[in-house]
Amino acid sequence: MRKRLSRRSFLKSGVGTAVAAGALRSGLLAQTTATVDKGPTVLRQFAYSDVQLLDGPMLGQFRANHEFFLAIDEDALLKPFRQRAGLAAPGPDMGGWYSWSDEFDPPNNMTGYVPGHTFGQYLSGLARAYAATGDQPTQAKIHRLVQGFAEAISPKFYVGYPLPCYTFDKINCGLIDAHQFAQDSGALPALSRATDAVIPYLPPHALTRPEMAARPHPNISYTWDESYTLPENFFLAWKRSGDKRYFDLARRFLQDTDYFDPLAAGDNVLPHRHAYSHVNALSSASQAYLVMGSEKHLRAARNGLGFVLAQSFATGGWGPNESFVEPGSGGLADSLNTTHASFETPCGAYGHFKIVRYLMRITGDTRYGDSMEKVLYNTILGADPLQPSGFSFYYSDYNNHGAKVYYPEKWPCCSGTFPQVTADYGISSYFRSNDGVLVNLFVPSRLSFDLKGTRVTLEQQTSYPYSNEVTLHVTAETPQTFAIALRVPAWAGPHTSLAINGRRWEGDLHPATAASVQREWKTGDTIEYSLDRTMRLEAVDAQHPNTVALIDGPLTLFATNSPESRFTRAQLLAARQNGSLWIADSAIAPVTFKGFPDIRHEEYRLYHEVAG
Ligand SMILES: [Zn+2]
Repeated sequence: MRKRLSRRSFLKSGVGTAVAAGALRSGLLAQTTATVDKGPTVLRQFAYSDVQLLDGPMLGQFRANHEFFLAIDEDALLKPFRQRAGLAAPGPDMGGWYSWSDEFDPPNNMTGYVPGHTFGQYLSGLARAYAATGDQPTQAKIHRLVQGFAEAISPKFYVGYPLPCYTFDKINCGLIDAHQFAQDSGALPALSRATDAVIPYLPPHALTRPEMAARPHPNISYTWDESYTLPENFFLAWKRSGDKRYFDLARRFLQDTDYFDPLAAGDNVLPHRHAYSHVNALSSASQAYLVMGSEKHLRAARNGLGFVLAQSFATGGWGPNESFVEPGSGGLADSLNTTHASFETPCGAYGHFKIVRYLMRITGDTRYGDSMEKVLYNTILGADPLQPSGFSFYYSDYNNHGAKVYYPEKWPCCSGTFPQVTADYGISSYFRSNDGVLVNLFVPSRLSFDLKGTRVTLEQQTSYPYSNEVTLHVTAETPQTFAIALRVPAWAGPHTSLAINGRRWEGDLHPATAASVQREWKTGDTIEYSLDRTMRLEAVDAQHPNTVALIDGPLTLFATNSPESRFTRAQLLAARQNGSLWIADSAIAPVTFKGFPDIRHEEYRLYHEVAG
């Protein structure tokens, strides 16, 4: 039996109760949760432990970050908190943004900017990595870090601290993840005390940057706090602890008047706002929908992400100089000559993955998955690894003379989100529907889940996006009838095809939908999915129709070592693939193009001026 799952029927295919990731695995939710989500969803997340990445670049990046933070010095991580609490504080100073420093003089000298700010994110990344791997030394490290942090909680920590909301939000995330995913019994008591410590330093409600600037502030950095991102983790803290104080705090910091109300009404209030934190805030709106059933907040999240997608680069990245541009201004094209800070990549990708997962769960719309894979292959998967010294990849550079570099300050924000987004690769790859499974990302991986008391495994093999072919092997303890749905990207060409056990599937493979095959699946069944990767050009914005990037399927291609080459549209579209390279003729000589993950130290160029 087979059926095509159009987007409309996909939307109707099931209304379930949202369950937080990991809850099924740990069973903790049932013991501690005070609520059931009120906002219905079409899809649900799998637990971290249900998805194992197999050999490939995504597993490589996840493992590198996991090993990096498993090896990091615990005394060094705890030092800023112990120092403020007046405790013995052994171990080295990490430096950069992470350690207290008298040098701090924003915006000229950012050393000592937000001490301890990424502690919670490193803890969260480890907790999610533990959930995905079950690695005991990781769990033991999490328990030591939570205990060490709990001992160092002090009301003095936030005295004279420029961004209390920012740092506390990450601590909240780390502690609720340590509780949820690493079964840390001390994490929620620590969160309660950490909340007591920060409350005197929280503003009365979420503040915009102009509102912060209108208040007394010792220096400019006090106007950069991100109180409007607090609700997401407060809602999660409420769900995971049952303590209503967190629910009340979440509602208090929903930035309705200045942000969610106009977004919900279709008013694009993004221009000139700080990019990453306002995308991150859309996840707070999504939680408001899930927890309270607030349709207004869902509209705000959907419209907000829609406005972001409408002003994205061909890579899926957004926000040059960490700011949104005026629609219709040609601002994206202008940035190609004026900045190298084109997209804040680990933070931006983390926020993008998160809001896309929320909106896919809520709506079932697979076009959100298209935007996730664009950001995956063209931004974060090309981020250079963290350095033990604390230097981190931060900005993707789309300047006409682009290059990959590390951020000059050690331990910036992006060192915190990088291990989180890579730990989330598995749960971003598959979703559970009421009638089966949606395959969202095409990545070597193994999904195992319980279906009507039977263990079912899907093993996915592919070298996509460098090839068209994706193969899925089914294993089931007993034959089971369910649906396996595959995302059909909006760019998929007419030769996209699907075969079950070697026989061509005759259902519809409409772009921007999911193709759903419902039948009795048994061990040995094989799905062969071939995605027709169309080659196309995409203009940077409507004001510059002849400034174009070359895209093959989900992969945006960068011209390397030839920044001044001139191409015609036909030359670009005729680029020939050879493994992980593409060759296009130009006015002078053939030019090599690469995807972002394959660029090392060579100069590259994303956009090309072509004749109309
Ligand atoms: Zn960042």
